[in-house]
Amino acid sequence: AGPALRKPDWIRVRVSQSESFREVKRTLREASLHTVCEEASCPNIGECFGKGTATFMVLGDLCTRRCPFCDVAHGRPQPPDPQEAQHLAETVARLRLKYVVITSVDRDDLRDGGAAHFAACIRAVRAQSPGTQIEVLTPDFRGRAEVALDILAADPPDVMNHNLETVPRLYRQARPGADYLHSLQLLQSFRARCPDVPTKSGLMLGLGETDDEVLDVMRDLRHHGVDMLTVGQYLQPRPGNLPVERYVAPAQFETLAQQARAMGFAHAACGPLVRSSYHADRQAHAAGV
Ligand code: SF4
Ligand code: SF4
Repeated sequence: AGPALRKPDWIRVRVSQSESFREVKRTLREASLHTVCEEASCPNIGECFGKGTATFMVLGDLCTRRCPFCDVAHGRPQPPDPQEAQHLAETVARLRLKYVVITSVDRDDLRDGGAAHFAACIRAVRAQSPGTQIEVLTPDFRGRAEVALDILAADPPDVMNHNLETVPRLYRQARPGADYLHSLQLLQSFRARCPDVPTKSGLMLGLGETDDEVLDVMRDLRHHGVDMLTVGQYLQPRPGNLPVERYVAPAQFETLAQQARAMGFAHAACGPLVRSSYHADRQAHAAGV
């Protein structure tokens, strides 16, 4: 690879010092819960915490897979913490969060891929915060999708999200262990079980994909009934991760959003700093949740 591309001016971190932001940080420390917001140093953290949105990572911080774009540590995870759902629910209630995203590492070591743990978290949050909307951002449950989806469908979230991350040509390089068609079918199979729950997926740009490949993925998503889309810029988390092949300009993201709406997505969030959970509350609203 050549020298690293210089970050353009539109990639910049917004810093917020609002009181609600500080309160969220304090409470998280006390509950020893992991948020993607903090751990991935998400550039939107001030805005999201300030508005009552956060993304929690359950089931530990060691992943059974090793995707070269991701800086989550690889290793043998601990068994699920039976207290975690309760701790999560207490934290969500204490912070009066309006919208929570629950996600996890891949747990290929668990027979249900961690689905029962997701369901327990959904039940616990609903019991304490019935007005809070819950989105799950799930792993692909490969090899156990039927079992996992049956479990999730019994305690459905308000939004079911699973990211395709990139175009199929780059899967072997960027998502070894995953399968493009499987991920599409996971979203479709959930939809078949819970037709009233919108489905959502996301892509990162900058891993070597072409614009035409991105449009093909968007069409595939629509063909599998997916309602909501996020598209953001890939940023290399550490020097050892996959390099950034291009920075997509804001105007190009705007064009993509228009193309997504023309394809029938109920909501498309596209922009350099868009993450899977960015403006998740607004997206859900647009999709009728
Ligand atoms: Fe957290 Fe997602 Fe908001 Fe980033 S975009 S701060 S990960 S909720
Ligand atoms: Fe990261 Fe998810 Fe890949 Fe695990 S499966 S390495 S958490 S992207």
